[in-house]
Amino acid sequence: MDAATHSASHDSDAAPLRLKSRAEIEREIQRRVDEERRRLEAQSAGQPRAHFHRPIERPFTAAERNQVTILFGGLTWKHEWLIRSAFQSAGYKVELLPTPDVAGFQLGKEFGNNGQCNPTYFMTGHLIKYLQGLESKGQSRQQIVDNYVFFTAGSCGPCRFGMYEAEYRLAVENAGFHGFRILLFQQDDGINAASGEAGLKFGVDFGLSAFNALNFGDVLNDVCCQIRPYEVNAGETERASNEMMERLSAAIRERRMFHVNDRFPPWLAKKVLANRIAEASTHTIGKIIDHLWGKQTDEALRAARERLERIEVDRLRVKPLVKVTGEFFAQTTEGDGNFHMFQFLEREGAEIKVEPIANWIMYLLWQAKAHHRDRKWLDMEKPPAWALHKRAGAELKFRQKQLFFGIGEAFYTHLYRRVIRGLGGIGHELLDMQELARLAQPYYHRFARGGEGHLEVAKNIYYTVHKKAHMVLSLKPFGCMPSTQSDGTQSAVMNHFKDMIFLPIETSGEGEINAHSRVQMALGEAKAKAKLEFQQVLESTGKRLEDIQAYVADHPELRRPFYKVPHVHGVTGTAANFVLHVSDLMDRHRPLFARLKPRATSPWRAVAAGRA
Ligand code: SF4
Repeated sequence: MDAATHSASHDSDAAPLRLKSRAEIEREIQRRVDEERRRLEAQSAGQPRAHFHRPIERPFTAAERNQVTILFGGLTWKHEWLIRSAFQSAGYKVELLPTPDVAGFQLGKEFGNNGQCNPTYFMTGHLIKYLQGLESKGQSRQQIVDNYVFFTAGSCGPCRFGMYEAEYRLAVENAGFHGFRILLFQQDDGINAASGEAGLKFGVDFGLSAFNALNFGDVLNDVCCQIRPYEVNAGETERASNEMMERLSAAIRERRMFHVNDRFPPWLAKKVLANRIAEASTHTIGKIIDHLWGKQTDEALRAARERLERIEVDRLRVKPLVKVTGEFFAQTTEGDGNFHMFQFLEREGAEIKVEPIANWIMYLLWQAKAHHRDRKWLDMEKPPAWALHKRAGAELKFRQKQLFFGIGEAFYTHLYRRVIRGLGGIGHELLDMQELARLAQPYYHRFARGGEGHLEVAKNIYYTVHKKAHMVLSLKPFGCMPSTQSDGTQSAVMNHFKDMIFLPIETSGEGEINAHSRVQMALGEAKAKAKLEFQQVLESTGKRLEDIQAYVADHPELRRPFYKVPHVHGVTGTAANFVLHVSDLMDRHRPLFARLKPRATSPWRAVAAGRA
């Protein structure tokens, strides 16, 4: 049979189906494009032609700040509360949208474009739902349009994130809120912290307060996920974290911002304030130092930590450690948008590792730096080798910019580490973006942008090879383009890492039961893996579980949530690591002659002996 032809063997009466060559397919595409062009030209005949321009948004001016309320949402409630405080500390009126739900999703479908990804429906719909709620409480549409603006992130693409702004506008227009303003915090401009809107100013104080708010939310989420599954009194972590949120939000909202008058002696303050340049630079540097090393942040975190410290934990519960990754919205939201997956996993007996927003910020920084490095002699002309001074100048310029990116990374890492230390020291460090790019590179190009880019693949490998999770669950929205690409690659990844338990779940407005049952099945495997690991580790210590339990009962510090249990390289579970540690503590207190006795050996003990 000709390679280019194929007989329809299942139907002997049908004419043979002929597969087209590539050139024929190209010609066919071109023919259809031309046909469509002719159709559109005929349709618009006689009408003036105009190039499409992005609609010019009615500006949100500084004069409106006192009467216009900024709406935002789409993160976890902790992040949202804290960011609201950052807005309030800068003098803005702000309201939070409730967690996106299925009712909002349906509204998004009703008023938005067809064929969007799932987060677009959820996000546009839950904005419309809120605006309709305001209307039902008696506000006219004009009042809503005049007195509210929506603040969101955006990007130039390449995935549908680039269309969010347009989608919001279309959906609010279709829902009848003509002229409702959508303010954008560009993904690409995010690094430069520019909004282009005069009413919304990203000063040093506001920017650093917002970063602190994000970091507080990230670390608090992380810490609570480590404590909650082991709490002795059910519900205590949630109660404590609610109280802490009140305190941390108040600390951000009521923060006393740096001012020369408050910190310098009057004679020096007068001199600094007399010179505009000296005033601006002193204020900028002073504010940065105050946010990075000032006492106010430490005090707020200490108060929060003290409340959490009272929770009693039992780390001997054997639980599979599940790392949740995926697309930004799906892995962050805490409601219908991801089938309430975090609550479900914990109910099913898992300990979860959530993804901090800070990793995404670090990814943006890393990407900007790596792009700049990669395009070294593309974005600037390479001077000839003999023009040494020009070459040196170009090199200096290049290195300067690389240095700025490096400073940005170091600065953000410092901010994040400070919050980890302040909230008990058990939060996870940010991931090394260079390592992630290296791990993903054989499967997914590091510059294939959009959504989480190579991160979904990289994190799956990272948590498996470093034994930092028993299972990786990737939450990817229905219709997500970058996640679909990652999924295609993940089968190759799973073939190379045979002991990997990886489950991709497509989130949508429906299908929760199906998704939960698939997770349950994979979780069953992860539970078995965690139990086996625990048994092997326990055997390697040569001790009985009852003895370990008795030792823990006698040492209350081991039941404190912020007690730092060392992580043994190669051992994943919290309970397994805890047993190894308690066993070591018990050995330290054994009489010398007992310590000299030969001990049970096993691969686990060997691992423990050479611990990281
Ligand atoms: S990453 Fe996926 S889900 Fe998120 S905006 Fe892009 S296409 Fe949509």
